[in-house]
Amino acid sequence: MKKKINRKLVLIATLAIFFTMLLITVVYYDLFRGQVFEDLRAYTMILTEYEDMSQIREVSDKLEEYEMRVTLVGEDGKVLFDSEADSASMENHGERPEIVEAMETGEGQAVRNSETLSENTFYYAVRLENGSVLRIAKDAGSIYSIFGRALPSLFMVLLALIVLCMVLAHYLTSKLIAPIERLAENLDESNDGTDYEELTPFISMIKEQHEDIMKNARMRQEFTANVSHELKTPLTSISGYAELIETGMASEEDVVRFAHGIHSSANRLLTLINDIIRLSELDGTEEEVSFERLNLYQLADTCVEMLALNAEKHKVTIRLSGTECYITGNKQMIEELLYNLCDNAIRYNNEGGSVSVEVYPKHGQTVLTVKDTGIGIPKEHQERIFERFYRVDKSRSKSTGGTGLGLAIVKHIIAKHNAKMELASEVGKGTTITVIFMG
Ligand code: ATP
Ligand code: MG
Repeated sequence: MKKKINRKLVLIATLAIFFTMLLITVVYYDLFRGQVFEDLRAYTMILTEYEDMSQIREVSDKLEEYEMRVTLVGEDGKVLFDSEADSASMENHGERPEIVEAMETGEGQAVRNSETLSENTFYYAVRLENGSVLRIAKDAGSIYSIFGRALPSLFMVLLALIVLCMVLAHYLTSKLIAPIERLAENLDESNDGTDYEELTPFISMIKEQHEDIMKNARMRQEFTANVSHELKTPLTSISGYAELIETGMASEEDVVRFAHGIHSSANRLLTLINDIIRLSELDGTEEEVSFERLNLYQLADTCVEMLALNAEKHKVTIRLSGTECYITGNKQMIEELLYNLCDNAIRYNNEGGSVSVEVYPKHGQTVLTVKDTGIGIPKEHQERIFERFYRVDKSRSKSTGGTGLGLAIVKHIIAKHNAKMELASEVGKGTTITVIFMG
């Protein structure tokens, strides 16, 4: 970045200097040209004072020493006299612009290239009273030669300025970049202050992202620890039961009991692993999920029917109300969401309690509520139940086979569907979870 700014600054300075010089040369040349004409005009005017041809010749010889050439052109364009060449052999000058102009207006001027590029010939012509035209010509530097002559000094100035610019650019960029560099070094420090207020939103964004990354890393680590711990418990009991059977110490009845223990522990391991696989699938954001039009009411109905037996076992009634509503979503995910919410509402309910599922439209959105009359969730736990492996009452949840991953999965699904979730719960009274699908 520094190098880039540096290079740009030097480039801008060089261009600016170059164009300034070019402009100065042009302006200067214009002045110079005006001056040359002014001088030529003065000489010509003086010369017109002499009537006598011999006098003109004399003065012309003098002027020649200063590289000025005097020409007298007759009314018909024929050269009557020339201080440098033989007038008789010269072609008709009646068409020369300065002569034409002088004939018409009394005075005329022109510049023409000489044989060399570096010189121009300046002409000034004045009409005499007798109708002939007197002209003085002088070679003077062309714009190229003037630029060429100025070039070495221009070059020196340019060089000096570029060096100056480079030093300044270096100094300026260091100064510009310093606060940003300082910031990059102390991203963790909680100072929001930067010398550039334009950068403040950018910095807070980076800080936020930085914190998110740290939090994510911590969560992943916790997750791994939790997974290992969760897997360990059922495996330990499987191993324990198996060992008892292996040693032959268990009676026939015990073997059946232990086998049951092994079976349920193995089932628990399976659900756990399934949930973990599901979560990591949902984590993979690259994977495109296919969305389709879904009848939420119908899906809820299927779910309620499927869980009816389970509810009966818990002595809980479950029913669905509302109207047909369509949402755009992934079928499998929505089924999972419904299952997890209803399953919790049954599982954390009291005997004789009820679960009511409702699907209805509201302000162009579709609302799903799952309401139970269960044990409720204490305020301090309400935010955390969506974390992986988080359970309010470890023993109760475990006895019902919960792993604490259900709501974590629900949260993921909701995020994938750009939906919103609200939780209202009171201990002893029950819990209501509301999911709002946009459009
Ligand atoms: P899993 O759903 O993975 O089998 P789980 O039910 O324990 O296990 P979650 O569904 O994530 O896990 O729920 C987390 C915790 O939130 C539960 O252990 C329970 O303590 C609490 N909880 C969830 N839903 C309710 C509810 N409707 N009423 C009371 N507590 C609830
Ligand atoms: Mg659950």
